[in-house]
Amino acid sequence: MDTRLSYDNTQGIYLLNGLRVLILKRGSLEIIQNSISKILGLATKTILEEAIATAFYSFFSDLKKNKSLRQGGEDRVFEEISYLINDMGLGRIRIVSKDTASQLVNLENGFNSGLNELKSVNSCFQADGLLEAMYRMAYKRDAKADEVRCKSVGNSDIDQFSVKILEEKQQFTYIESESAYTKQENTENIELTRIGSIVKLNGLDSEIIPAVLFPYLFSKLRRLIGPGVYGIERETGFQIAKHYAMYDMNALNEKYGLSDFEALSPMIGAGKINSTKNEDGTLKELDIYDSFNALYADDLEEKRCSLLLGLLSGISFRLLNVYLTFTESDCSSINNQFCRIVLATK
Ligand SMILES: [Zn+2]
Repeated sequence: MDTRLSYDNTQGIYLLNGLRVLILKRGSLEIIQNSISKILGLATKTILEEAIATAFYSFFSDLKKNKSLRQGGEDRVFEEISYLINDMGLGRIRIVSKDTASQLVNLENGFNSGLNELKSVNSCFQADGLLEAMYRMAYKRDAKADEVRCKSVGNSDIDQFSVKILEEKQQFTYIESESAYTKQENTENIELTRIGSIVKLNGLDSEIIPAVLFPYLFSKLRRLIGPGVYGIERETGFQIAKHYAMYDMNALNEKYGLSDFEALSPMIGAGKINSTKNEDGTLKELDIYDSFNALYADDLEEKRCSLLLGLLSGISFRLLNVYLTFTESDCSSINNQFCRIVLATK
């Protein structure tokens, strides 16, 4: 397929062929995995795997709906999605061997074994989920992917998976992507620099993911462990922000004519951010429109944007040399308009 990436300056969001995505520094998905597993243990494996499988399967389905994904037989669709995965900076997929019930698949330069902290076990849970999403889409059947060789364990220089294609043709969970609803004149095309299967945006090695992935994942976890998930989500956002330690946010602010925290919009596609200052020049509040964090609210009428709060706290140090702590006083998952972020009182 022909992958087209654009940035909508009015909404502060990135679109891949018209569907909303986040663009994160490569390794961010693993930071999510590490942060969650550290607190909840390996029980999170199935949850992560299923969340990725659902989010990507839904994303592929929507690309088929808007006719970005070319039609064809099973192998043709699989190949199309392989190109897309490579364009998204997630790795290069190669089928090593196949018969009717199982396949052996390599993921070269995969997104899931660079920063992995679980060194003793094969732990590309998320890559398992990504492959399952591809088979659901191409073969219209469920598949079970398991890692057989893993870069981060040290027994291989690639990640290799055995995929069993199951007989079941079930109804897979589908969550709708956020689609572009703005006029095209507000969007500019983004040229990604590609070196092999490394994708760069604003000078950073990057990975592109469906914008609903994180809110969907954390909603799943919330159902399991309750509101305690918000603390984990906040910590995860903070760790992702730390991953941007050397990032030149001032250059980004200058390029887009934004001030301090507003750079989070073009940095990852977080949504449009308006910052308001007090008379003494200190930060008063941040209003965020189209927060990615509130995209999938799972019918809970709650303030949703804990990951965003952690991200903002993490980048506050980059901008102001002090870690600020934020709280959300209002959320678009409740008011349907915008999220208002204010400084937390100690
Ligand atoms: Zn919110």
